[in-house]
Amino acid sequence: MAEAVVEEKGREWEKEEEEVDYVQLARELENSSPLKVMDRALEKFGNDIAIAFSGAEDVALIEYARLTGRSFRVFSLDTGRLNPETYRFFDAVEKHYGIHIEYMFPDAVEVQAFVRSKGLFSFYEDGHQECCRVRKVRPLRRALKGLRAWITGQRKDQSPGTRAQIPVVQSAEIIELDMQVDPSFEGMDGGIGSLIKWNPVANVEGKDIWNFLRTMDVPVNSLHSQGHVSIGCEPCTRPVLPGQHEREGRWWWEDKKAKECGLHKGNIAQEGAQKLGSDGNGAATINKSDIFETQAIVNLSRPGVENLLRLENRREPWLVVLYAPWCRFCQGMETSFVELAERLSGTGIKVGKFRADRDQKPFAQQELQLRSFPTILFFPMHASRPIKYSSERRDVDSLLAFINALR
Ligand code: SF4
Repeated sequence: MAEAVVEEKGREWEKEEEEVDYVQLARELENSSPLKVMDRALEKFGNDIAIAFSGAEDVALIEYARLTGRSFRVFSLDTGRLNPETYRFFDAVEKHYGIHIEYMFPDAVEVQAFVRSKGLFSFYEDGHQECCRVRKVRPLRRALKGLRAWITGQRKDQSPGTRAQIPVVQSAEIIELDMQVDPSFEGMDGGIGSLIKWNPVANVEGKDIWNFLRTMDVPVNSLHSQGHVSIGCEPCTRPVLPGQHEREGRWWWEDKKAKECGLHKGNIAQEGAQKLGSDGNGAATINKSDIFETQAIVNLSRPGVENLLRLENRREPWLVVLYAPWCRFCQGMETSFVELAERLSGTGIKVGKFRADRDQKPFAQQELQLRSFPTILFFPMHASRPIKYSSERRDVDSLLAFINALR
């Protein structure tokens, strides 16, 4: 009988758990302090939740957990490719907090097979996904399989493109965590959504994390004093310059390839589009695929651009994108460029576009520094040569920072 009561209570508890509305909870906690979010997470999940610690400034999570006065678990992925400084930092953190980090290692047989067949640095040749899958994603999946919830140090300001919408509590496990993962992480209860992710510092800016770490005298990874902002595996992480976004220190060789639309690639796509036209559908397709269509962007003709090149005819600064409508990288930046143009409307800075493919390409290459699509140029009022935007970041804030630095 007593057992039946216990079982019944257990079922009720499970039912209560199932009925938690995490969207509502996320809303409730959206403006709460990291400490409060951490406290709720630890209170709710006890020993079935753990902090994912990368060895960087997410040590703040451990400090917040300590401040709650509750017991907590910490796990870390030891990929075997971390910097020596990170290993020393792990040790310092364990001693400082009197904890044992639960290290997750890649499967030895899998790593062995991978390295024997592809070498130690294959990611420079064919991308980081395969290595990350073996050394990070699978160990992470194993770690999460023993949990019902986890706590990460993801912040909205880390990557405006992909992390801008991070809530403090997430019930669906479709995550990025600095790597390519498939969206099928499961907790110990099994099934998609069986794992709740808590992001207590989602709304905190990087500088405030650092103020917190300094105030609380928390040990930090010595790589930070060498210019590292984001910290990961040694071969795939590098320091960034002041003002550079932290994400630019990760997998930089791939970013170049992925974000740059080489003229050669563009030519292939262009040929495809023209072929479509010769089949009878082309004209409609090409017209329809013109991009950057808003009144805030002036559609420049060749004489218009030639006028801009003459300093005496420039009455205001201009920002001009050299584009090809078939280029998927131009299409990819369309939303941000249109938003930028609308924000600049009435500020005295003109925004224009110049279609620089087909017969305009030789001119654009010779006179407008075109190497790949899209190319963004700033024509200042008092300098004769346009200044090329050389970063691959094409979000509104980065482009505004470029303009503000030159206007
Ligand atoms: Fe491998 Fe680099 Fe990924 Fe580390 S970050 S697992 S070294 S590809």
